[in-house]
Amino acid sequence: MQGTVSRGKAIHITGIVQGVGFRPFVYNLALRHHLSGWVRNTSQGVDIRVEGCQAQLDAFLTALTNEAPPLSHIDSLTATDCPSETFEGFEIRYSERIEGAFQPISPDIALCDDCLRELLDPNDRRYRYPFINCTNCGPRFTIIEDIPYDRPLTTMSTFAMCSDCEAEYHDPTNRRFHAQPVACAECGPQVWLEVDGQRAEGDAAICQTIAMLGQGAILAIKGLGGFHLACDATNEKAVAELRRRKHRVDKPFALMMANLDQIETYCRVSPAEANLLYSPAAPIVLLNQRPQTDIAPSVAPGQASLGVMRPYTPLHVLLFEEGMPPLVMTSGNHAEEPIVTTNDEARAHLATLADAFLMHNRDIHIRTDDSVVRVCNNKELPIRRSRGYAPFPVKLPFELPPVLAVGGELKNTFCLTRNGYAFMSHHIGNMENLSTLQSFEQGVQHFERLFRASPSLIVCDQHPDYLATRYAHQQAKERGLPIVAVQHHHAHIAACMAENGHLGDRPVLGVCFDGTGLGTDGTIWGGEFLLADYAHFERVAYLKPMPLPGGDASTRKPARIAYAYLLANDLLPADDLPFAEHLSSAEMTVIQQQIAKGINTPLTSSMGRLFDAVSALLGICNTATYEGQAAIELEALVDVKEGGFYPMACAGSMIDMQPLLAQVLVDIRANVPIATMAARFHNSVAYMIAKVCQHIAANSGVTEIALSGGVFQNVTLLGKTVPLLEEAGLTVLLHHQVPPNDGGIALGQAVIGYVQAQNDPIDEVERQGSVL
Ligand SMILES: [Zn+2]
Ligand SMILES: [Zn+2]
Ligand SMILES: [Zn+2]
Repeated sequence: MQGTVSRGKAIHITGIVQGVGFRPFVYNLALRHHLSGWVRNTSQGVDIRVEGCQAQLDAFLTALTNEAPPLSHIDSLTATDCPSETFEGFEIRYSERIEGAFQPISPDIALCDDCLRELLDPNDRRYRYPFINCTNCGPRFTIIEDIPYDRPLTTMSTFAMCSDCEAEYHDPTNRRFHAQPVACAECGPQVWLEVDGQRAEGDAAICQTIAMLGQGAILAIKGLGGFHLACDATNEKAVAELRRRKHRVDKPFALMMANLDQIETYCRVSPAEANLLYSPAAPIVLLNQRPQTDIAPSVAPGQASLGVMRPYTPLHVLLFEEGMPPLVMTSGNHAEEPIVTTNDEARAHLATLADAFLMHNRDIHIRTDDSVVRVCNNKELPIRRSRGYAPFPVKLPFELPPVLAVGGELKNTFCLTRNGYAFMSHHIGNMENLSTLQSFEQGVQHFERLFRASPSLIVCDQHPDYLATRYAHQQAKERGLPIVAVQHHHAHIAACMAENGHLGDRPVLGVCFDGTGLGTDGTIWGGEFLLADYAHFERVAYLKPMPLPGGDASTRKPARIAYAYLLANDLLPADDLPFAEHLSSAEMTVIQQQIAKGINTPLTSSMGRLFDAVSALLGICNTATYEGQAAIELEALVDVKEGGFYPMACAGSMIDMQPLLAQVLVDIRANVPIATMAARFHNSVAYMIAKVCQHIAANSGVTEIALSGGVFQNVTLLGKTVPLLEEAGLTVLLHHQVPPNDGGIALGQAVIGYVQAQNDPIDEVERQGSVL
């Protein structure tokens, strides 16, 4: 060691450091710095022993964090001095397997640049091989059956490596060292096309797929986490036919586009959005659509944005190789059913939807839908956190024992905690049918096994009829576990606090604007200002409750909500307004009677319903065919230059929308442009939030504001609200890791459940049968 004293260091690293090329990185780094010793995976991370001169050790330690592989994520690194043992050279030692130990597992990763180059290089041995991957990219979560993450415990176990792949797999200087899904055309998975009882293999299958898409066909294409249904997004006939077959009326379809150049022809892309499109997660990014492109009108009716992703598997890249137009890539399922993952299921369930099947024989162990994100103030706002993100954990502000939080009804995800991590599940979907419930149950079992976490507490929503709530009670009974039921909007706010690392040692002012959630008084909440920590919350202000004739079903017909809101606010008659044309006089009579007699007419303080009502009044959306449609179409029309707003009044802790609705009617009758009114409405809500928060902050001394709930998927509203709060000297907590919608509440449930169970002696924790 160049004549200097040899010193030793013992280094322990935790985080996502397995299956991401960390050991070969350490190996090569040690060689570069002339250090001896070893590296190995252990129960909770990576252990390293290195020896050499002080200067080289220091340089090694710096490089360890600065140059770590792109997909690794170091949570902690400890280095302690230890006596020198004079190792011979540097080696990678075999993993220590410890019973009950766990490791964060890497999500699936989009094709990397090195593999892309090889895929398109005629001289490479994996030229045009649709399953090329390496340590830096490829399937992970979707193929892992159990830990440790080794090939025999993945769906790649059926493919024996050829000698070339094996040599790469065992060579620490190779990019494919210990890349578990490593494969080539000789030894790995194969692709084929099934059409009309015929079968085409390999490149011929890909070429025929491209040709069929060009002719307007609809194809089922097996991807990373499930099947997609694909068609030419510029072919109106094909897209309309896909809608007809899927019975999907308006809900927008996601698109895949060849590259940034193609995406920019159709959408405006900010640098932050481009970064997300090209991130290893490669999510669907909601982008502002350019006007008058050749995208078929049926792709995203009533939308200002398009959901776009890049080709993230090598198979996708090959489809786009020769001038493919944008493709619709929507999940391969019937409405509200889980995405199809196996070839047999696809043949059975997608036969009425697809003209042909592009399949392969690498099995998908766990289904994972595409993720969806938006960008707000240059930062990521998750809308659906699934492929590429799950099961990457959210780091918790404190350690938790294993807690299972089952989430809500819509956009369900669940959460399993262990130590300082919250493992948020992939997107399960709307828990409205048996097959989604089964998918949820499989997911829970898989997570418990993968993370070696057997829950000591179960947490659910307070709504007794959610399928997830019923599941939680049944599990608590069967397993003899305590159960805590958490108020829906409290969970939203706690999720926002937890992902921001809030310790919960002081309350925040949570603004939870949402669609639906059961309140503690039995009414439907959703326009809430809550002073909350993890243990408690106090409802300090809320939208004045309004009648909701028909209950949840009314959300499908916003015109009914508009009528009920006008009636309740003494703003009828309104027969002269366009929305009234969408209601028969019989319907109006029924609504009047329902409200008068209180038949099937719950009260709601929901902000989501106010958006529905205004969207209908403005003539934007009177009938909704998917959740949130009225609000999304209202946001899409906002004139960004308009600064006007409508008044809202405060009566004690109740916010009265009567003056706002009255002024909206004045504007409609004065023929004010819809875009102006849509903007004024958004401005009003933002000003109201700022005013109410300032008022409560002044009275309570609480200056941290957490914004959560489905309404805050609206980046126009967020963009207007955040600056107003910050100008008032308030600190704003937003969602960047889990969605503000119900896809994020499991995180809040877990933390609240744990803290509440801690605060109460265990005997007093509500047990199965005593709650609700
Ligand atoms: Zn790669
Ligand atoms: Zn091979
Ligand atoms: Zn909610």
